[in-house]
Amino acid sequence: MKSIDKGYINGEFVTLHGTQVFDLISPTDHQLIGQVTLGDETDVERAVTAAKAAFKSFRKSTIAERIQLLQQLKEAVSKNTTELTEVMIQEYGGTRQFCTMSTMMSLSNFDSLIETLQHFEFERKAGNTLVQMTPVGVVGIITPWNASNGFICSKLATAIAAGCTVVVKPSEMSALQTQVLTAIIHEAGLPKGLFNVVNGLGNVVGTAITTHPDIAKISFTGSTITGKQIAKTAVDTIKRVTLELGGKSPNIILEDADFEKAIPQAVFGAYMNSGQACVAPTRLLVPKAKLDIVNQLAKAAAENVVVGNPTNDATNVGPMVSEKQYERVQNYIKIGMEEGATLLTGGPGKPAGLENGNFVKATIFTNVSNDMRIAREEIFGPVLSIIPYENEDDAIAIANNTTYGLAAYVTSADESRAVKVAAQIEAGRVCVNGFKHDPQAPFGGFKQSGLGREFGAFGLEEYLEPKSILV
Ligand code: NAD
Repeated sequence: MKSIDKGYINGEFVTLHGTQVFDLISPTDHQLIGQVTLGDETDVERAVTAAKAAFKSFRKSTIAERIQLLQQLKEAVSKNTTELTEVMIQEYGGTRQFCTMSTMMSLSNFDSLIETLQHFEFERKAGNTLVQMTPVGVVGIITPWNASNGFICSKLATAIAAGCTVVVKPSEMSALQTQVLTAIIHEAGLPKGLFNVVNGLGNVVGTAITTHPDIAKISFTGSTITGKQIAKTAVDTIKRVTLELGGKSPNIILEDADFEKAIPQAVFGAYMNSGQACVAPTRLLVPKAKLDIVNQLAKAAAENVVVGNPTNDATNVGPMVSEKQYERVQNYIKIGMEEGATLLTGGPGKPAGLENGNFVKATIFTNVSNDMRIAREEIFGPVLSIIPYENEDDAIAIANNTTYGLAAYVTSADESRAVKVAAQIEAGRVCVNGFKHDPQAPFGGFKQSGLGREFGAFGLEEYLEPKSILV
């Protein structure tokens, strides 16, 4: 069992003022795998003081110096990918397949920001005026448990590119993963105070960050409900706020698509990161006339999904992160059945032989109506809703009939037709014919899926204040 009893402040692992201890329980077998000491307001104060002092000099760093730091971080992370992947599997229960990819994506953030910096214009002209893009200040980074180190890496890389310093509050359920990453970042040798970490609860450490007058911006990834709370709290000091929130992403399969290929892909996609992915395509929109064949293909695909121990190479769906998350998903399965959706496969309870962990059966509901709660609310587990549509306009209307707007997917034999449909979807990212990622493309939500964008030049702008100098 590991004990994480220190924070990382001003370039050192330091004993925290906070004393509350939080148990880290394995999602796979419910064994106690670690304990983390949680910080408090005093610890946040120390971390912000360090970040504020470091900002004084780091704001003046050159582009070449920032690129050098990003390269150092990339090298340090790339030497430790195995350790980062293993601790993610152990603590979070993410599958080996997903955690391996997630670690590689963490690395790609450094490359992406280096590339962005090589072209980014920090000085521009507007009319006759010189516009300088200046670093916003100390950034409070608050992250969720579902790809914790990936979010810390992408937000830290962007902050460094902008000339900002940071105070990070990861999910209390990600302490082992954060510890591994923090040790790696420590070895990379950043200037003291640039990167600080305080473990703690959202309503203590999180609130201390979102209310602190010396924090200029919050970069938050997490649930919509917490994002709203953070936006309200941050307004008192007029912080800049970037919110990456939840989703209920539609996956439109047009009638000309290759269903034999598209439906299994849609099922496996919905279960990405064991269903605990903000961009998971959890609403599968299919032509009503093809519902029978879709049901057959989807059921067969779900029966091929391997739910099990996340360390095994073949596992597609691991356990839910916590018992609370397991109960939440079970509750939605019950709601789906009560609402009258047809349970196609999976359902309540744990798969046989997996009773010791937070495992959920790979579940599909069909004949789902878009006004049911299972079609409207983010479940964050391996539960897919198949929703039939009448025609293309109906599909677009259903896709957009949601409070969310993070991602969407369109599949068609005719790519230009799919792009025309994509243009009508209210979502920050629409993937055509498959699941894609581009670390340079802006990422973020329409509607209640978020505010602002991350990644590449668009993400960098969110950490900068334009200053007009009129001579
Ligand atoms: P969460 O909102 O419960 O917690 C996220 C973080 O916020 C945690 O560190 C938590 O301690 C902290 N927090 C909680 N209350 C706070 C408060 N009052 N003030 C400040 N901080 C507070 O989310 P979660 O359950 O950890 O993660 C799952 C959610 O994250 C899902 O809704 C998912 O869709 C979303 N998510 C979004 C994206 C995206 O890029 N849009 C990516 C991953 C996850």
